[in-house]
Amino acid sequence: MSSEVTYPGGKLRLFVDAALGEGARVVIDEGQAHYLLHVMRAKVGERLNLFNGRDGEWAARIVETAKRTCTVECTTAVAPQADVPDLWLVFAPIKKTPADYLTQKATELGVRVLQPVMTRRTIVTRVNVERMRANAVEAAEQSGRVTVPEIREPLGFDKLLSGWPSGRRILFCDEGGEAPSIADALRTAPDGPWAIFIGPEGGFDPAERAALRRHGDVTAVSLGTRILRADTAALAALAVWQSLRGDWR
Ligand code: SAM
Repeated sequence: MSSEVTYPGGKLRLFVDAALGEGARVVIDEGQAHYLLHVMRAKVGERLNLFNGRDGEWAARIVETAKRTCTVECTTAVAPQADVPDLWLVFAPIKKTPADYLTQKATELGVRVLQPVMTRRTIVTRVNVERMRANAVEAAEQSGRVTVPEIREPLGFDKLLSGWPSGRRILFCDEGGEAPSIADALRTAPDGPWAIFIGPEGGFDPAERAALRRHGDVTAVSLGTRILRADTAALAALAVWQSLRGDWR
């Protein structure tokens, strides 16, 4: 009986680009093959799971290994393709470590799109989108998702708002103190796809706050009386949204 490749979180799951289906053979890319063969010391015959965000999740068996590559063959479908709720996270970029943390946690919490927005008080000037993608893939592999969130290129605040897709509700996390609590607001807010907006460490500036409050799709909410760090605020808002409007219900 061939064994499974496991890591502390359980059975190993890898995100691949290749099409998956019964008998499909997939050549694992060099980085993943290094991890599989030289970190996890996986051997021919051992099993792991694959997903590609399109064909669901498949159990697969290692059929061939070489110095730098590894080929696996899909055996059985273990989970159908399913998407996470239609929720975006729009956030002003933060420093590297919090950005990695935020990407990982937002992926675990089930966002569909991560959209960095450059606001007037944003300090961070460069967003490493490739690094965000790598963090999102790892978090998707470990959290059991069969999708990886879309990581979008950063956009300026004005450009983002002027091109905003009508009908997508904006949950504006506003630390200004006048907004209703997030729970009360979400209980009564209209249905539809959503986006949670989180400002920079310095907050949205008055013109941006005014533009958000004027926007027809905006619901401004408070996350309580304490001022939360941007990454904390994002995760708190995601958790409440999933509980009241998402797939935690
Ligand atoms: N500049 C603000 C200040 O010092 O008053 C703090 C900004 S906070 C660190 C970063 C972002 O997190 C804010 O723009 C807001 O989107 C969100 N946030 C933090 N605490 C919040 C709260 N109590 N209610 C609603 N949003 C909050």
